[in-house]
Amino acid sequence: PPKALGEKILADVPGELLTELGRLQEMFIVDKDKLKLITQRFVSELEKGLTDDAGDIPMNVTWSFGYPTGHETGSYITIDMGGTNVRVCNVVLTDGKGEVDIVQEKFVMPEGLKKSNAETLWDFLADCTAEFLGKHSLDTKEALPLAFTFSFPVTQPHIRSGILQRWTKDFDVDGVEGEDVVPQLEKAFKKRNLPVEIVAVVNDTTGTLIASAYKDPEMRIGSIFGTGVNAAYMEVCGAIPKIKDHGLPPDLEVAINTEYGAFDNSRKVLSRTPFDRSIDENSSRPGQQLYEKMVAGLYIGELLRLVLLDLHERNHMFKEQDVSLLRQKNSINSLFLSTVEEDKSDALHDISFMFNKALNIEPVDYELKVTRFLTELIATRSARLYSCGIAAVSKKKGLETCHVGVDGSVFNKYAHFRNRAAQALKEILDWPEGSPDPISIYSAEDGSGVGAALIAALALQRTEKEAS
Ligand code: BGC
Ligand code: MG
Repeated sequence: PPKALGEKILADVPGELLTELGRLQEMFIVDKDKLKLITQRFVSELEKGLTDDAGDIPMNVTWSFGYPTGHETGSYITIDMGGTNVRVCNVVLTDGKGEVDIVQEKFVMPEGLKKSNAETLWDFLADCTAEFLGKHSLDTKEALPLAFTFSFPVTQPHIRSGILQRWTKDFDVDGVEGEDVVPQLEKAFKKRNLPVEIVAVVNDTTGTLIASAYKDPEMRIGSIFGTGVNAAYMEVCGAIPKIKDHGLPPDLEVAINTEYGAFDNSRKVLSRTPFDRSIDENSSRPGQQLYEKMVAGLYIGELLRLVLLDLHERNHMFKEQDVSLLRQKNSINSLFLSTVEEDKSDALHDISFMFNKALNIEPVDYELKVTRFLTELIATRSARLYSCGIAAVSKKKGLETCHVGVDGSVFNKYAHFRNRAAQALKEILDWPEGSPDPISIYSAEDGSGVGAALIAALALQRTEKEAS
């Protein structure tokens, strides 16, 4: 078995299982050369996405122009539809001070909404908005501009529209793909006479980029590492061949929502394991978001589950245990993985507790250690592959150093990810050990409301300028 195994797995692991672990380790390790190869391919795919030839990566033009100056003003409603929550905010921007006032409410999305139909989805969002406006007495005044953070790939003819290209993250709501989400949501607002007007459709990555840059002028990339993965950055219009007919100034900057979760959909460079293939085949959109499916929070728990189940089926783990819960899709989530890695007790109590609670399994000692080992393999691969996307965007832009603002549950709640990602970035960029990080990643938690409000403010400023 490969050497890394020795220190982590004790002598009580049966020899056959040790051999299996060696085989898994080989499958999941992404070495420095492979990281570089992936990044190189990633850069060329980012470039291709800006042209008229459709590649794997959509590189969606968001029509959100430039960085905020700190002088943006006004009161905005923002709605962020996440994977499990809907967050509605009232964001008030105050000139000059870069000061922000936020009032917000979180609503839990009902079970099943992800797989419902358009009307059910938009009615739910409109109900949340109505409740929010009522509670904060915002429903009597004149209509407020609203920015809608819709974190899915959309085609935008302009900033006030978003035609859903395809659902991701296991959403499968009928009647939305290929449609503009703005009139659909507006219809639900109208039914309730809500005093709001949608002025911008925003991706979570673009919101994160703008909110981060508002506080730190060195921010160049906004990224999400949570249920899904993605990044946004500013591109000059002159470097975007697919919008050359718009006659925009070549040095004007516009935010590109890369939608790079779709990287390698054409299967050119990533080494997918049988477990990755199984996740894809059993997803609601097979063949889509192949990079995301190897990296993001929605899938890393599933990867661990499939590996453990496979070891059980071949009689290496949980012998004589009832594995019916382990057979259920999504019975292991990314929180399970972070708990496994953070268990500092010698006896691995927390891991044992998680097995009992989440899976109704009573593991023996060596199974706990094996689980920790497998979790490290899967989470490390995720962090290292995640870094390829960030490195690729910075290379594409020719940035030698920059700050990256990252939001998302995996990044914020899983302590090891940041260091692993930083380590991989150094390897990709050949940065000497011990020197400061060329690309520094920062947590940009909860920036979505502020980012969306700033984007709305910038969009309105631009409309006013055009009108005058
Ligand atoms: C979506 C992106 C989003 C990312 C993170 C992906 O599945 O396609 O639009 O930015 O998840 O939320
Ligand atoms: Mg989110």
